[in-house]
Order: sequence, then C-alpha cells, then structure tokens
Amino acid sequence: MLLTDDIGNIKNIGTERRSRLNKMGVYTVLDMLEYFPRDYEDRSVVTPVAEITPGSTFGFVAKLDDKPTLSVRGRLKLVRARVSDGTGQIDVIWYNQPYLKNSLQTGKNYWFFGKAAEKFGVLQVESPEWEPYSADKVSLSNGRIIPVYPLTQGLTQKVLRGVIKQTLDDTTQEITDHLPADIIKKYGFIGRREAVKSIHFPESDEMFFKARQRLVFDELFLLQMRLLQLKGNIKKKHNAFEIKNTDISPVLDVLGFELTAAQKKVLDEIRADIESGFVMNRLIQGDVGSGKTAVALAAAYMLISNGYQVALMAPTDVLASQHYESISRLFAKLGIRTELLKSGMKKSEKDSACENIRLGLSKMIIGTHALIQDRVEYRSLALVITDEQHRFGVEQRRQLEAKGETPHVLVMTATPIPRTLGLILYGDLDISTIDHLPPGRQKIDTYAVNTQYHERLYAFIKKLAAQGRQCYMICPMIEENEKNDMRAAVEYTDELKSVFPELEVACLHGKMKAAEKQAVMDGFYSGKTDVLVATTVIEVGVNVPNATIMVVENAERFGLSALHQLRGRVGRGSEKSYCILVSDSKNKLSKERLQIMCSTDNGFEISEKDLQLRGPGDFFGTRQHGLPEMKIANLYKDIPVLKQVQEAATQLYLKDPMLILPENRMLKQKILDIFDKNEKNLGL
Ligand code: ADP
Ligand code: MG
Repeated sequence: MLLTDDIGNIKNIGTERRSRLNKMGVYTVLDMLEYFPRDYEDRSVVTPVAEITPGSTFGFVAKLDDKPTLSVRGRLKLVRARVSDGTGQIDVIWYNQPYLKNSLQTGKNYWFFGKAAEKFGVLQVESPEWEPYSADKVSLSNGRIIPVYPLTQGLTQKVLRGVIKQTLDDTTQEITDHLPADIIKKYGFIGRREAVKSIHFPESDEMFFKARQRLVFDELFLLQMRLLQLKGNIKKKHNAFEIKNTDISPVLDVLGFELTAAQKKVLDEIRADIESGFVMNRLIQGDVGSGKTAVALAAAYMLISNGYQVALMAPTDVLASQHYESISRLFAKLGIRTELLKSGMKKSEKDSACENIRLGLSKMIIGTHALIQDRVEYRSLALVITDEQHRFGVEQRRQLEAKGETPHVLVMTATPIPRTLGLILYGDLDISTIDHLPPGRQKIDTYAVNTQYHERLYAFIKKLAAQGRQCYMICPMIEENEKNDMRAAVEYTDELKSVFPELEVACLHGKMKAAEKQAVMDGFYSGKTDVLVATTVIEVGVNVPNATIMVVENAERFGLSALHQLRGRVGRGSEKSYCILVSDSKNKLSKERLQIMCSTDNGFEISEKDLQLRGPGDFFGTRQHGLPEMKIANLYKDIPVLKQVQEAATQLYLKDPMLILPENRMLKQKILDIFDKNEKNLGL
C-alpha cells in the first residue's frame, strides 16, 4: 500500500468508515497515518485483583469464574460476572447490555479496564471495557499507553486504534524525511517515519517524547517557513513615500486628551516604520476601549501632513459611518477633507466621492472593503488602516499592488490573540500592543444570571432609563442562521416593547438594508432610542458612551472573546456600567466560562482562559483565526519548540529563501503539499 492510496484500500475500512473518515479530512493512507492522537491514556499498569480499591480506574487480567448472570430491576438490565486472578476475586458488572451474558465464556481470561466502586458493601468494577486476553498476543487497547484520537460520530476509539495499526503494518512505502539533514542532526531528532509510528503506539515514555518533539517541530516549522517566505517577499519592498514631517501635535490638540504611554509607544513604532524606507505591515492589538482610533488618526495625520492619502476600512457600514462622523469633525478643524464611501449611497454621491479621491481633494477616505476593491482610484494612497478585522491578508495587498499601490498597512484588532498564536499567524506582520487603557475607566460590573432574573432585570433597566441611560440587549441566537436570528430579534423586540411601553425600543439585525441600519443607529446615537435590541451585528467598535447596560441572552452560546467585545460597548463614558449575562445552561463548562467573564475584564486573560477551557478538541481556536488546524502542536505548551523553530527557519531562510537547493527539495514539496490545501483557509 502506498502513502497516496485511498483509505478504501486499508483492510478494515469499508464504505461507511471511509465516508466518516473523509468527513474528518482523511482521504489517503498518509492522512490516516497523520491522524495523530489528541491524548493518551496510560493503561500500562496491570493491577492484581487483590489491589483494586474503590474510586479509581484499573486495568487487570482475570479469568471468568462462572457464567455471567442477568438480573432485571425495572428498566435496568444488569449483567454480573465473577472473575479472579491468582490474588483475589471481584465482580464486574454492566448496565443494559444484556447480550454480554452470552459473549463472555467461563474459564477464559480477559483484559478489563474500568472504575471500581463499592456498592452495598460489595467491591465491583463497573462497565469495564474488555477484550479476550492472550499471553502471546500484544493488545492494542490494554497493558500499554494507548492513543486517544479526535473522534467523529460512529467511530470508536477501539476502531480507530485498529485501523491505524493496520495501516502502519500494511504501508510498504516509507514516509520520507522532508527536514534538511543538518537540522535533524542539530536538534538530535528521530526520523519522521519512526516518529509517526511512535506517536500512535509509543513503546516507552522516551519514544513518545522524541516522537512528539519531532512532529511538533515539523508542523510549526513548515508553517513558519511558509510565513517567512511571504513576509520576506513583502519586507524587501522599498517605498518612495517621502516623509519630511512627523509632528502630530496638531491632531493631538484637536483630540482633546493626552495620549496614554501605551498609545505613544505604538505611535513611535509606526513613526519608525514609515521613516524606514520600507513598507510598513503592522498589527496593532489593543483591548476594547484602549484607544486604537486615536492611534490610527495620529498615524493617518503623519502621512496626510506630508501630502498623502489614507484609507480607513471598517468591517461594516455602521462602523464606517460612525468613524466618518467623528473623524470628519476632527479633521475638518485641521483643514483635512474626509470622504465616506459605502454601500447604500446614491450613484451620484458615489461618483462625486470617487472623483474627490481621484483628484486628491479628499485626504482621509473612510469606508468598507470596497475601498480597495472597486473602481476607486487614488491619487496618492500611502496608508491603509483596517479597523477591527484581522484578515487584511496578502490577497488584499495583491489587489492593491495590481493597481500600482504599495501603501503602508496598519491592521487594528481588539480580538486578543494569544502571544504564541500571534507570532505564528502574523509571522508576516510586526505586532504592537496597546497594553493599558486610558485613565479613569471603571470596571464594568458583570453578572451571570438565569432567566428567573428577567423581572428584576427589566426593573433595573427601567430605573437606568429613567436616569437617561441607554441599554443594549443582545437577543438569543437560535443557530448559525441569519434568517432565524432575524426572526428571533424581531420577536424579542416585540416582547420588550410590551415590557417597556414607556420606552423607545428599536431593533437591529444583519438582514436589514444599510439605510435602515443607519436610521436605527442614528436613533441610538442621538439618544432617542432607549433600548437597542440587536443580534451580534453591533459586536465591534460601536461607541455610544451614554449606553451603560449590556444584556446578553443565551450568553452560553457566545465565545468569550465575543462576549468581551460586546461588553466593551458599555463603560465608555463616566457613568457606572453593567453587563448582564443571561443563561439557563446547566453545563459545568458553560458556567465556568461565564464566571471568567465576571471575574476579569482583561481581554488577553479572557482569551487565554477560554482557549484553555476549550481544550485540544477545537484546536485552540486556530480555525477562527484562519490558521490551518494544528494536528499535534499545542500553541500554549510548545512555546519552547516555537523558539527553536523560529531560529532554524530563519537560518534556513537566509541561506535558501525559496528552497531551491537540492537538499531542500523535499521540504519545498512538503510545504507546497500542505499550503496548496490550506492557502485558502489562511487567507494568503
Ligand atoms: P478601541 O480601541 O476599542 O477602538 P476607541 O478608540 O473607540 O477604542 O476609544 C475608546 C474611547 O476612549 C473613546 O471614547 C476615545 O475618545 C477615548 N480615548 C482614547 N484614547 C484616550 C486617552 N488617551 N485618554 C482619554 N480617552 C481616550
Ligand atoms: Mg475601535
């Protein structure tokens, strides 16, 4: 069997298993071999029966002393068998698997693995896994460290273990080593083939560690190498934007507040970039409310005051309009003309905006993605700022370059990215962090409550509204389906209108036309609307300082980062603000997650904890960030490996950036294999 063969060729994979495996992205023999365990269970200890004690899980080998008995108590069918080894005797029982009565044979030896408990003074092992024991056959599932695989419906661990063992045994083609020999030697790695074998069925702790070390390195190395190639391409670009003057005091004067030290530090980094003679490609991460807009404005001013144009892209029309409102007002004081370009504008308005941009009359241009895609022609575009979205990838850059523009790029995001993930994901970007908030911010009081609190909650909202405050209510998400979300939002609004007859309640959802959305937002900005019911369309960036309470229904359905973003809509003024997370979920993990929201307002802490709680199943939210899914690397635990990887990859990159030397041919091929598949996901 060859590595490229279809998994249908593997002995114990029939059509059904094949299609289930396909669903998990496993198509070829190599995919199957690289379907790595997500965890291990140590079953290497075989316990004498006499040493089994209640409360723990044990693996043991024992002989069936008698025919099992079946007893029925109401709905409960109980199979009980007495087993023994040389040291003692114990009962094993199974619930509601009556057929087991005839599966187990008296006098034969079996492996058992299960939890011991004492019931009515009798020690027994409950619902153990079992398999026939044979002295001369090594078991895949017992008496060893066994792999635990990421599962899909309809495939058990036992089946996967068997299939992978079979594949290892029947594959005749060697797994090649794509890593250059000098790297393997330098770090003392074992071969990839050996590593793949041992990651599934390690023969010792030592082999397991060596296998994992090798495979984690491989995975991160390929990604890092690819990103270096991309970054290298970009970094080498010189640019001709001439900067004579970087005095930003005029813009600071009109802002009306003193920049924080964190904001100043980031601006210094930006200044150094634009004076370097190279194209800037920088990510600014700053928690919700850390004042990214002010940084963006000062950066924009640096280029505008040297005669260039700057484009600011927001993810939604609503946000673009909001930025336009505040920025055009500020920049007008400096004699800078600001232009808005978004969907929902009349053709004549669009045409005149484009004309102003083409002629260079407008220096600050604000809009959505259309700013770089459409027929927009710039006179002297020198900087593109994207707000609240981290997907300004190489593709967008290509679009601009195709039009003859290589502007500096500044990406601003509040989605906190764990440091390690940032290093990898934004290997092609430099990163600045605004690491503290402007002074005088109050903590937003956050409470997790269940739906029984609705009455009290409504009364509280009425009280705040009477004091002139406004409220956001994020309505329940039904499922990931915009249509249903819309219905939920509309129904919920009607309900709230009857709860608050004396208040102005308005509704905002994703299916509304741009103009309708704008009208609703205007009502809320102006203070006319007291309660804004919304789906998560308001998640990012909206700034209404008079809104002081945020209610999130079905809070358990949101990711913690999303909740943190939502909460960031309040606490923007001087008034005390509140965030109420409503959930009836009894799930322990859900409760824990909501508790994290109540205990901290630090976005980075929240995201790290969230990712830890989500665990290796949804691999550290990598998909959410557009990374190919990691098969084995753990972006928290493997920081030391990442350091090695970056060192090795940089060295190799300096020597042979495009991997054309013969000794790097395999590596080049492997990178192509992986990234052809994943380039789309990466948004590269
Ligand atoms: P975000 O980083 O979430 O985009 P914003 O840029 O919207 O945050 O800023 C949040 C609020 O903080 C705004 O009302 C802004 O005017 C204010 N702000 C920003 N920087 C400062 C500062 N240095 N001192 C005081 N207020 C500031
Ligand atoms: Mg913002």
